[in-house]
Amino acid sequence: MTAKNRESLFDSVAAMSSSPQAAEAPVRTPALQAKTPVIDRRYSAALDRRDFLKTAPLPCLAACASALFGTSAGASLLAAPAREDDAQYIKEARFYEKLPYKKTKCKLCPRECVIDDKERGYCGVRENRGGTYYTLVHSRVVTAHIDPMEKKPFFYFMPGSTTFSIATAGCNVNCKMCQNWEISQVRPEQVRSTYVPPARLAELARQYRCASIAYTYSEPVIFYEYMVDAADAAHALGVKSAVVSGGYVQADPLKKLCARVDAIKVDLKAYSEKFYKEVVNGELKPVLDAIVTIRKEGRWNEIVYLVVPTLNDSDQEFKGLARWVKSEVGPDVPLHFSRFHPEYLLKNLPPTPLATLERAKAIADGEGLHYVYIGNVPGHPAEKTYCPRCRKVVVDRMGFTVGDVHIRNGKCKFCQEPIAGVWT
Ligand code: SF4
Repeated sequence: MTAKNRESLFDSVAAMSSSPQAAEAPVRTPALQAKTPVIDRRYSAALDRRDFLKTAPLPCLAACASALFGTSAGASLLAAPAREDDAQYIKEARFYEKLPYKKTKCKLCPRECVIDDKERGYCGVRENRGGTYYTLVHSRVVTAHIDPMEKKPFFYFMPGSTTFSIATAGCNVNCKMCQNWEISQVRPEQVRSTYVPPARLAELARQYRCASIAYTYSEPVIFYEYMVDAADAAHALGVKSAVVSGGYVQADPLKKLCARVDAIKVDLKAYSEKFYKEVVNGELKPVLDAIVTIRKEGRWNEIVYLVVPTLNDSDQEFKGLARWVKSEVGPDVPLHFSRFHPEYLLKNLPPTPLATLERAKAIADGEGLHYVYIGNVPGHPAEKTYCPRCRKVVVDRMGFTVGDVHIRNGKCKFCQEPIAGVWT
């Protein structure tokens, strides 16, 4: 994507808004997020998310958010953050129970937050108002990008296509290695948003010739209602939907999601409850259950495992993971071992050594998985897809660029071996 058409994208998203404030708002990009310090790292390393939100003064966050949106075009691109009570973003939540005394119990993710009136759930984007539970982030987009599908990464879902990628603020876990923590670990009113209703999002994806919309960057489970409405609107225009999620979601909403989208990539953070407890503030078992559910529901699924030095990189863990994948969802589910780069609260650790990634791949290959990749190492031979039977390259890749594809009608062009995936 060139700088020129990125500007066009910003203009289009801003222009479609019916909100005078949001009409001037630029669309955030991960590049801006990555370069802009938002909180004082001296404190961030010692505070968990809850403590940080309690102690960080809102004006400071607002100022930092302004910096995030600063561009060479200057102040004309800045707009005040959307108001918390801005009605256009608020819809009744789909998965919750009403409890006595105007309490609600959220049934969207395994955390099952029980919320008093006027309070919010852990993710910060769902609020109890008088005993009714609401999402605050329907159509409330904080970032939009046109990405290659390979960046998600999806390697078996329309390779070489582009995907219109969006997110809202918020997340239902707190990974210490989060690369998008400036949007995932804040409340929606603490970052600038643009109003992008589902039909407009679908139009934009088609206008920019994207084969799909990707719900990504933060955690799409927490903007569930927007995601499924957008997926329906996109399908009506012939645009597919791909979800990039941590998989921390309950079975009922996940099954219903599977019926509405085309592919779900799960970021499996580790293969140990200890890591999930200490580094993610979540649980492993519900995520494993989610991967099995996606497979059973027939949605295309790939798994990414970010290898964090010293924390989830043991032979035992790699072997246990590979055996679980093979026995529970099958050897054809792609498994990507991705290189970690120091981020957020784990800046004290080094990037993953290449030897560790190659060790992980060798173990998973040895356990009989058919499609094991090494990610975030551009140019590595383990970026390519090899036919599991004849071992010829059937999808050539270099970084996010796709070369020759030798798959015809879902089969290897050389030996006719079926290659699972969504190719058109
Ligand atoms: S989706 Fe949010 S409010 Fe609902 S249970 Fe999960 S963290 Fe709590």
